[in-house]
Amino acid sequence: MRLIILGPPGAGKGTQSARISQRLGIPQLSTGDMLRAAVKAGTELGKRVEGIMAAGGLAPDQVVLDIIAARIDEADAKAGFIMDGFPRTIPQADGLDALLATRRLALDKVLELRVDESALIDRITTRAKEAAARGEPVRKDDNPEVLSRRLQAYVKETAPLVEHFAGKGLLQSIDGLQSVETVEDQLTKAIGA
Ligand code: ADP
Repeated sequence: MRLIILGPPGAGKGTQSARISQRLGIPQLSTGDMLRAAVKAGTELGKRVEGIMAAGGLAPDQVVLDIIAARIDEADAKAGFIMDGFPRTIPQADGLDALLATRRLALDKVLELRVDESALIDRITTRAKEAAARGEPVRKDDNPEVLSRRLQAYVKETAPLVEHFAGKGLLQSIDGLQSVETVEDQLTKAIGA
């Protein structure tokens, strides 16, 4: 099964895609995680995106498309995947279409987690506080100022993908404000798993 999970920062994409990944035995492809790993490893690519990410902007489309192209060719992604944080712009979605078409593959569904803005700010602030309390590193971009830039980027660049995928008949929307279990349940039903 080839899935995309779509939603604003803090909507629960990471949590839910990890669960779906386990349930279906397919990898979770998170461009955010991949880019953070590149930053941490200090690669050329990491150096290129570090400042952009810290400021809440979006990495260049071609950079993430190249990462995704390489990732979907790995053995574990042959049986399917769930993409989390990608695509994030219309050009990324078009690029993904082209990547899949040359491999004779198609998407099965796009799952949208709907959450309103005030809830997102609460969630991310709580996530940062909890990580700090556990002695874990807090994501540099989980602070109110950068968060508001990430939300702006979402509204401007990513939200148009909702209509884009609805137009292709792929979209399933779920209320992301329900409990983690209820959301998981509804996502599971939506994908018929
Ligand atoms: P969140 O969904 O909580 O904002 P992510 O972990 O998905 O977090 O992404 C963190 C940051 O990584 C983004 O703010 C952006 O700078 C960069 N990023 C991740 N995925 C993409 C992408 N597909 N295109 C461009 N930038 C990306």
